[in-house]
Amino acid sequence: MNRVKQKTCVITGAALGIGRACALHLADEGANIAVFDRLDEAGNTLVKELQARGVNARYWHVDVTSEKNVQVAMAETAEHFGGIEVLVNNAGIAGVNKPTHEVTEAEWDLVQSVNVKGVFFCTKHAIPFMKKAGRGSIINLSSIYGLIGAPDSPPYHASKGAVRLMSKTDAMIYAPDKIRVNSIHPGFIWTPMVENHLRGTGAADIDAARAEVGKLHPLGHIGEPDDIAWGVVYLASEESKFVTGSELVIDGGYTAH
Ligand code: NAP
Repeated sequence: MNRVKQKTCVITGAALGIGRACALHLADEGANIAVFDRLDEAGNTLVKELQARGVNARYWHVDVTSEKNVQVAMAETAEHFGGIEVLVNNAGIAGVNKPTHEVTEAEWDLVQSVNVKGVFFCTKHAIPFMKKAGRGSIINLSSIYGLIGAPDSPPYHASKGAVRLMSKTDAMIYAPDKIRVNSIHPGFIWTPMVENHLRGTGAADIDAARAEVGKLHPLGHIGEPDDIAWGVVYLASEESKFVTGSELVIDGGYTAH
């Protein structure tokens, strides 16, 4: 119940999917929750749900591609809750799914700006508050697509590979400050992102497409947002106090091939 007691956790892209599950589980473990997203309605609904459970939670409209937006929201979060101890860099987009030679510069840049620059901005502006607190945990959502190749979504693969190494570099830079930085590598998890991705492939029967993708995982099915949120709770808690620069793979065995 109290694995993350009274730590203030910033979760980007928390309105839906994996981010939402992280907010709910971290809150159940005693954390204060700062929801950063650009989906105001869903973000505010989540905060009301958390507050109804007695959780200290607040929503900020944040587009992680805007440094000013991120900087102001981090400062307001620290002011409101009295500090920041945990950052979950979860906001991400899948981007276009077409071969490299057909991807435009704008399509490439869009994915890098959310998935890579967004992680950079949020990390940059959370670190001063973690230094002040004398501790911190940064959890970056990479992907199995940041570990191994697949013949699709080239900008997404590049972005998630970058996040994997940004995590290791920051782990080394900030270890003396007792700030830990780790990446999580989910397999396919049933969220709006994956549903939209499957619809984008022209799948007529979405349940059949879901089952087909599930077969790529040795455990035989797609994961749930909760499967990732439990990993986030572990990395946010003191149970992982000796863990930094590591890759937590939660993929139903996808990368065990
Ligand atoms: P999702 O269902 O699409 O939810 C992502 C959330 O992030 C949405 O609320 C989205 O809002 C928000 N967001 C997107 N761009 C943003 C921005 N610029 N600023 C602020 N918020 C933004 O995605 P998900 O499946 O939960 O994925 C969460 C993370 O896990 C992503 O980093 C993803 O790459 C990673 N991941 C997911 C899977 C999977 O199978 N689902 C697998 C591996 C890794 P909008 O709707 O407005 O974009």
